[in-house]
Amino acid sequence: MTKRILNAVLPGRDRLADIVLEDGKIAAITDAVVDRSGTLDHETIDAAGRVVLPGLVNAHAHIDKTLFGGPWVSAIQAESVAERIAHERRVRGEYGLPSQQYISNLVEAMIAAGTTHIRTHTDVDPGVGLHGILAVAEVAERYAHAVEIQQVAFPQGGLITNPGTLELLRDAVEAGAEVVGGLDPAGFDNAPNAHLEAIFDLAASTGTKIDIHLHDGGSLGAWEMGLIADMTKGFGLEGQVAISHAFGIVHPPTQSGLLERFAEVGVSLVNAAVYDSPVPPLQACAAAGVLVAGGTDGINDLWGPFGDGDMLRRAMLLAYRNEGRADAELERALDTVTVNAARVLGIEGYGLQPGHAADLCIVDARSAAEAVAKVPDRWMVLKSGRVVAAAGKLAGEFPMR
Ligand SMILES: [Zn+2]
Repeated sequence: MTKRILNAVLPGRDRLADIVLEDGKIAAITDAVVDRSGTLDHETIDAAGRVVLPGLVNAHAHIDKTLFGGPWVSAIQAESVAERIAHERRVRGEYGLPSQQYISNLVEAMIAAGTTHIRTHTDVDPGVGLHGILAVAEVAERYAHAVEIQQVAFPQGGLITNPGTLELLRDAVEAGAEVVGGLDPAGFDNAPNAHLEAIFDLAASTGTKIDIHLHDGGSLGAWEMGLIADMTKGFGLEGQVAISHAFGIVHPPTQSGLLERFAEVGVSLVNAAVYDSPVPPLQACAAAGVLVAGGTDGINDLWGPFGDGDMLRRAMLLAYRNEGRADAELERALDTVTVNAARVLGIEGYGLQPGHAADLCIVDARSAAEAVAKVPDRWMVLKSGRVVAAAGKLAGEFPMR
C-alpha cells in the first residue's frame, strides 16, 4: 500500500519534502509540490512543516526491572552500585519483578514517544535464571509490529563471583539474546581478565555482540577500556563491541589515546547522561570516529525513580551535558539516539533514505535542533509505514490495552 507524507522538514535538507512509503519502506523522497489541489486522501499525511526524524533508538535500557505504571516504590539512597545490586536481589521478588505488565506499560510509553528500536540489558543470574529474558521476549513478540527489542544477557549480579551465571548467559543466548553483557570486570567482579575472556569467548563462539557496563572511572576504567579494545581485536570482534556508561572515558591523560584505539577496532560508547556521572565528549568522539549512542538506562525501578522513556529528552540531556548550543551540536546529540544508536545495534536499512524502513517519528518542531532543545510532543509515529502512535497516544491495536 502506498502512503504519502507531505511537507516534511528533513534534517540536512533545505526545502520541504514529500515522502512516499510503499510496503513498509521509504520508496521516494522528493521536493514538496507547491500546488496540490485535490491530492489529499486518507493515505496522505500532511506534516505541515513539522520535522520528520527516523524512528528513535534506545541503545541502553533495563525494561525487565521496571515498575512503570505499577505501585510507587522508593529506590534506596545507596552509596555504591554494589549496594543497589544487593538491594535489588533482596526485594525484587516482593514486587513481582520482572513483570510483563510493567514491561508492557513502559514499552507502550516508549512507542508513543517515537522509539522504534530498543536494546535492553536483562538480568541473568542463578536467582532469576532466564525469567527476565523470557518475560521480555514475550512482550517483544506482542509489540513486534511497533518496536524491535534486542536483549543483552546481562550478568548484573557478577560473573566470576557468581557461579552458574556464565552457563545461564549461554542459555540466554540460545533463548534469543543477541548480545552478551558484562559488568565492571575489575570494580565489581574483581577479575578483569577472566571476566572479559569469558564474555568475549561466549560472543565469539555464538556470533553475538558485546555490550559491557563500565561504571569504573578514572585510571581503573581507562585501563579496562584499553583491555576491552585489545580483546576486541584479539577475538576478531571489531565493530561488535560497545561499552556502556564508560565513566572512565573523560579521564584526561588517556582520553585521546583511547578514542583512537576505539576507532581502530570499532568499539562504540553508550551513555545515558545519568545524574552527574560523566558523559562522553560528543565532539571529540565524532572527530576521532567513535560512535556514541544514547540510552535511558533504568526507568522507574529499584535503582531510581526517574525516566519516561523519551529518547529526545535523552538527546537533550547529552547535548546539555556537552554544553551544546549551536544547531550542529544539537544535531550531533540527536545522532546518538538515531543513526549512531542504529549502527551500534546493527539495524539494517535504518534512516531517511529510499529503500530503508519507513520507521518515522514526526515531531512538533520546525527543525531537528528544535526537536532536541524543546523535546516537543510526538505528532505521529510510524513503524514499517504503519501509524502506531499519534498525539502521544498509541494508535491501532495494542495487546495490553
Ligand atoms: Zn545499565
